[in-house]
Amino acid sequence: MSDESRVAIVTGAADGNRPEPAPRRAPRAPRAPGAPGEAGTLGVMDGLMQPRPLTIAHILERAERLHAHKHVTTAGTERLTYAEVADHTRRLATALDRLGVPAGARVGTFAGNHRRHLELCLAVPATKRVLHTINIRLSAEHIEYIVDHAEDDVVFVDRGLLPRIWPSADRLPRVRHWVVLPDGSDMAIPADPRILDHDELIASGDPFAGSFEDAFTLEDENLASGLCYTSGTTGPPKGVLYSHRSTVLHCLGTLAAGLIGLSESDVVMPIVPLFHATAWGLPYGAMMAGASLVLPGGSADPAHLLRLIETERVTVAGAVPTVWTSLVPDLRSYDLSATRCLLGGGSAVPPALSETYRAALGVPITHSWGMTEVSPVGAIGGTRTRHREATEEQRVAVRAAQGQPMPLVNVRIVDVETGGELPRDGHAVGELQVAGPWVAGGYFRAEGEDGFTGDGWLRTGDLATIDAEGYLRLVDRMEDLIKSGGEWISSIELETVIASHPDVVEVAVIARPDPRWAERPVAYVVLRDGSATTAGQLLRHITPMVAKWWLPDAFVFMSALPRTGTGKLSKSALRDSARAP
Ligand code: ADP
Repeated sequence: MSDESRVAIVTGAADGNRPEPAPRRAPRAPRAPGAPGEAGTLGVMDGLMQPRPLTIAHILERAERLHAHKHVTTAGTERLTYAEVADHTRRLATALDRLGVPAGARVGTFAGNHRRHLELCLAVPATKRVLHTINIRLSAEHIEYIVDHAEDDVVFVDRGLLPRIWPSADRLPRVRHWVVLPDGSDMAIPADPRILDHDELIASGDPFAGSFEDAFTLEDENLASGLCYTSGTTGPPKGVLYSHRSTVLHCLGTLAAGLIGLSESDVVMPIVPLFHATAWGLPYGAMMAGASLVLPGGSADPAHLLRLIETERVTVAGAVPTVWTSLVPDLRSYDLSATRCLLGGGSAVPPALSETYRAALGVPITHSWGMTEVSPVGAIGGTRTRHREATEEQRVAVRAAQGQPMPLVNVRIVDVETGGELPRDGHAVGELQVAGPWVAGGYFRAEGEDGFTGDGWLRTGDLATIDAEGYLRLVDRMEDLIKSGGEWISSIELETVIASHPDVVEVAVIARPDPRWAERPVAYVVLRDGSATTAGQLLRHITPMVAKWWLPDAFVFMSALPRTGTGKLSKSALRDSARAP
């Protein structure tokens, strides 16, 4: 069954009446030949455990029952308890019924990290609708493409973000309602019958008593719960359709001790946006664990983020390396002593950056490797007990790796040309492939099927090594590797050595076409404010660390590097400018 038809067959309340609680049905379990408890002809038998589905509603219900007094704080200005968040979520669930949003329909969100967005992340999937988080940094053309492709029925949008999406409204006739979320902005709201006020909608909802899970019985844990589009750097964006089962299992993964290990005593701050694979699943994990949540709101201002980490006594935070870099100048001006785990992912964390944090706070930046297609967390870096005896230099090298796969996630590397599996010896480089219960098995509307192997593994497009202990080390994206005179140069490794210069804030290395060598590396560098470091000094700094033919042909100094919609370095923009005459 394709993902598309899976959405289409969902049935449920669309008319304002919640369905009667129905007995929970078994999920599509593989049939064993024997009856439960009895051996079949093949000698295998079904277990006799309850086939209750894994549901996002359970995450909400657990937080409400066990941790009602814990807080969700937004931007340091609004503090609500999980009991209050649950009350709003119930009202929102029933308000969606009243709006006639059918089960299975996609509900778009175009919003920052705040409490109202969190409530949408709960109410929409818990009522069998599909949460489609839209990246607010996309161009109008991309936004229109994905809202249309997803067939969003309703879109919830931050008031301050209206100017970025409302001009597209007439080109998106399938969206019946645009619901405006108050976000402290006084942006003008157009007078249009399609526009509704979020808080009025919530006030009209019914905060029904009793179990959420029973009120919106989920028959099948494999029903779609969320839709997130990849950034589409290589072709149109593709939709990754999460299920309740994949989301709950991924959420439990974030609780695995020794990796991220979210627990009741944590205060979790997802700086990474909710539109990026539901902020790496951190809000769901925090609620399941009973941790408090700190949502930064719409601002990524370094002083704002540092103040929140200090005043809220944040213990776990997740952000892309660019954000961690932006906090460095003021790191020692705040009391960040409560932190225990700072996750960096989406692109490689330079070891120098991680070490800066370790020196200042005693806490390094821990690699979190993932992809939208992997829900997104697939591996977690850092040292383990076995590295206690290692030298500091060895430990730095371990921390530079993307880490060990999460429980239930399988990884392998294969030869790009032959497709044959390569040894886990820390040396062989191949394409990283992933399989597991929270890894995509296909894309929405069956697009991009070449992203999967014949035996069902996801092809990540990352080149990596795996060592004997299962540590992944990313060498490059397949499209970023530089081939000079027939030899490969890793852009990531070159960036790491250049970034080890104390004046380098950011660096991106790309291939420039070259008539003699086919491709040669060129480094684009952002220097610390006021630095007068020259290309010659950078060259002298890296010469002892890399092979001679790896030395970049040019250093181009910039005030900022171009970024993609997800805030990553846009190497394709740099490649275009390098090719321009
Ligand atoms: P897209 O593939 O659309 O850019 P993703 O955000 O899903 O969007 O990006 C996934 C890619 O980001 C991975 O395949 C990998 O190349 C890169 N990435 C993610 N986490 C890390 C990490 N910790 N270290 C290095 N690269 C990473």
